[in-house]
Amino acid sequence: MDEELEQQSGLPSDIEGIDTLAIRAGQVRTPEGEHSEAIFPTSSYVFESAAHAAARFAGEEAGNVYSRYTNPTVRTFEQRFAALDGAEQAVATSSGMAGILTLCMVLLEAGDHIICSKSVFGSTISLFNRYIKKFNVDVSYVTLTDIDGWKQAITDKTRFLLLETPSNPLGEVVDIQQLADIAHNNNALLIVDNTFCTPALQKPREFGADITWYSATKYIDGQGRCLGGVLAGDAKVMEECVGFLRTAGPTMSPFNAWVFLKGLETLRLRMDAHSANALALAQWLDEQSQIEKVYYGGLPSHAGHELASRQQRAYGGVLSFEVKGDKSAAWRFIDNTELVSLTANLGDAKSTIVHPATTTHGRLAQEERDEAGIRDNLIRVAVGLEDLVDLQRDMERGLSAL
Ligand SMILES: *Cc1c(COP(=O)(O)O)cnc(C)c1O
Repeated sequence: MDEELEQQSGLPSDIEGIDTLAIRAGQVRTPEGEHSEAIFPTSSYVFESAAHAAARFAGEEAGNVYSRYTNPTVRTFEQRFAALDGAEQAVATSSGMAGILTLCMVLLEAGDHIICSKSVFGSTISLFNRYIKKFNVDVSYVTLTDIDGWKQAITDKTRFLLLETPSNPLGEVVDIQQLADIAHNNNALLIVDNTFCTPALQKPREFGADITWYSATKYIDGQGRCLGGVLAGDAKVMEECVGFLRTAGPTMSPFNAWVFLKGLETLRLRMDAHSANALALAQWLDEQSQIEKVYYGGLPSHAGHELASRQQRAYGGVLSFEVKGDKSAAWRFIDNTELVSLTANLGDAKSTIVHPATTTHGRLAQEERDEAGIRDNLIRVAVGLEDLVDLQRDMERGLSAL
């Protein structure tokens, strides 16, 4: 935590527990003495005099001017998040996608090159292909687990490598340290989209990643209410991100920051509960005869199990499985469930189910889906916090339709 803020918030300086930080870090009380964090839904701030206003505008005096620049609720969220993620600084954005856009605007110039895992969030690939490439930035896509592929793709123009581990929806895992070394040997940065694990389960910075990127919309909120994003890293790059956000405006709203703050307070507890539910459900699904294969990093049969056990504290809430049969069997399974929500969102207390081949990965060509291992009989479940017994019964309803 920033020293000045540490003083203001009155927290002891020796706090290290992730739950304590998630509940307490960054809070600065107003003279009203509120116990819970205050929301500041204000667009601008008043000054004591013309000279005071001039000093604030000139940056000679620290303090609020306008909420596109700073907002106390957003700042509290950023401070708390940086403490949790073990980063010098965190910067909040209006959505997850606004976060990667900000990094592109700050880090890239015409003529630069970036390398991206093929298994990243679909909109990330659309952002690169439809918009970033327009500015003469070259993008190479590589298979997440193909270390030689990453090495071969790198050039002296490569500015950053971007990946998600574990991947969606098959839970493939890559050695973060290995990729950080590849990046650093070539003066490039490693950016990890850590949305699926959150700092409660994985801290990519401990394995050499330079920047972590999150969609706060998922587990950080945890109850499917608000859109938001957050970046974390060294102060130098984060300050450049602040500069872009101030100028261009995709900043987080104070209301959303407040919702995410409350989300952080229970983040570790929820991530452990999501992980425990998902592991138990994966083990149970694995025993069902109508299921061909279950993909979950917590199962010893998963190719990434050992690595996930080393990098992550638990395996998260997302699992997928192939039913025996084709697309119509997968659709019958999904349509016969009654409890889980049929929606592509995840990171919610409510469990969700989706057919990747015709939704989240539907825009890919058949060939690309084949290569990514997204088969027509694959179903993804983002396991929520309902009772295991009820989730299991719902999966039984799905199985009975096969
Ligand atoms: C949802 C998501 C994003 C995009 O975040 P938004 O908040 O929807 O803009 C990026 N990466 C991952 C892994 C996601 O799940």
